[in-house]
Amino acid sequence: MKYALVTGGSRGIGRACCVKLAEMGCHLLINYHSNKEAAEETLQMVREKGSDGEILKFDVSIQEDVESAINGWIERNEGKYISVLVNNAGIRKDALVMWMKDDEWQDVINTNLNSFLYVTRLLIQDMLINKFGRIINVVSLSGLKGLPGQVNYSAAKAGVIGATKAMAQEVARKKVTVNAVAPGFIRTDMTKDIDESQLKSMIPMGRFGNPEEVAGIVGFLASDEASYITGAVINVNGGLYT
Ligand code: NAP
Repeated sequence: MKYALVTGGSRGIGRACCVKLAEMGCHLLINYHSNKEAAEETLQMVREKGSDGEILKFDVSIQEDVESAINGWIERNEGKYISVLVNNAGIRKDALVMWMKDDEWQDVINTNLNSFLYVTRLLIQDMLINKFGRIINVVSLSGLKGLPGQVNYSAAKAGVIGATKAMAQEVARKKVTVNAVAPGFIRTDMTKDIDESQLKSMIPMGRFGNPEEVAGIVGFLASDEASYITGAVINVNGGLYT
């Protein structure tokens, strides 16, 4: 039985990743921040796939919160370890640099970038000891290309891309892989204020993607079949940017 933690598993791409990993037989640890009802719905969907899971509430942007929730799980589950980690939780707070407030910068960096360190370093030791681990970071087109109005978000996601490539080299010998998936525009709550009909002409596929289309590659990267892929950044963007 593989234990998989998906941060921000309550909604959107994180939820689709939970369902995909449940289909693959993983026991899910579904993290959420404030939307308990959505996390419970995800758990129900996991159970409908014939697997099981549990809900783990913590704020990925607060180090103490992350440590107490994850270390608590580790203490309660002696002999088990989390072998699949999907660092997915994220937010955007768009503003032009000239008007960007300190909290818009810090909240986005803490939630999208610092969370990578807070969560990952608690799980890596067990993955190394057990000589198997899969770390998948959900980044963004914005972190590769840079998008105006998203300097905070682009910086955070570019930071995670750098961390992915560097960490992959640290742990490769112990059969732990570290990869990133970079979605373009995906239909979730995060993009509900963006008008698809106006933007779709820019996208070669002519539409936004669905969360399941991101979860498919996350599932593959978590699988045994992806054993020789590490340090990669895989675009899921309908051809918008390669
Ligand atoms: P979403 O629908 O807004 O869902 C965000 C998820 O993250 C929710 O489960 C939310 O939990 C959780 N979350 C937010 N802040 C958190 C915190 N501080 N601690 C713990 N959990 C937190 O977003 P999404 O579109 O699925 O995005 C998922 C990831 O994909 C993000 O990293 C995002 O940057 C990235 N991405 C999305 C798109 C896109 O077009 N949608 C494109 C590129 C990259 P609650 O339910 O409790 O609020």
